[in-house]
Amino acid sequence: MKFPPPLSALLLAVACRSVQPAPAPAPAVVTAPAAPSAMERLSQQGTDAVLWQHASAEYYRIALQTYELARLKLAANLGSTDPRPLAVVVDIDETVLDNSPYQVAAIRDGRTYEQSTWKDWTDKASARPTPGALPFLRHAMEQGCEVFYITNRDIREQAATLKNLQDHGFPFADEAHLLLMDGSSDKTERRARVAATHRIVLLVGDQLRDLHEGFKDRSTDDGRPLVDAMADTLSRYFILLPNPMYGTYRDAVQGRGTDEEKLERMRAWMQRNAY
Ligand SMILES: [Mg+2]
Repeated sequence: MKFPPPLSALLLAVACRSVQPAPAPAPAVVTAPAAPSAMERLSQQGTDAVLWQHASAEYYRIALQTYELARLKLAANLGSTDPRPLAVVVDIDETVLDNSPYQVAAIRDGRTYEQSTWKDWTDKASARPTPGALPFLRHAMEQGCEVFYITNRDIREQAATLKNLQDHGFPFADEAHLLLMDGSSDKTERRARVAATHRIVLLVGDQLRDLHEGFKDRSTDDGRPLVDAMADTLSRYFILLPNPMYGTYRDAVQGRGTDEEKLERMRAWMQRNAY
């Protein structure tokens, strides 16, 4: 016959169980962090440039300084017996509107430039004027100049671009004075269209191509020889804003293709230029 254990024996058994060490937790699964993609690495390479353009008092001052110089050049070019109406030709992006918030968001998200995200940004019509641009263009208008905006934004961006310019009170912000990209990023024909009816007294841009398409070629000494060859014209008629974030200088190194290919060309460029 089997007797149940006494109560004291049961309590002892419970107590003994309670002091047994808890089973060790299962080891956590440790995985290596995912390697950043080529797009993320390319995006990160722009951080310093975007930081400087978006957040430095130095950029702010240089932009103001550049437009101060523009006033001097404009004054020097106004006098003429040419009866044609006067025109000042400006680029838009990084010349009269500051798109650095788009670039900041791209770095935050590990993205590089894409037409779709760019369009989302320009649709907001929320870009701020580049420091000094608005007072300069109002001054140019007061001096009797029409302002023409020659930009490589495309036709689908027309309405939002005009709204962005008009909201800030930019002069001549209308369809007749906004020459958008129509197929080619080469602005030569659009400049010629303005020059056919007006005397262009000054051009302003953040790319040398905003003056002359020849600056697209960076195959010889990064394009410096043409800067020297055109020194007089550049000095008299062209005002250049700084833009380290993107442009012909970077395209010339990265080239076209996949992000992996661009990254590889950047790596090869650094290899060739480090000494
Ligand atoms: Mg530009």
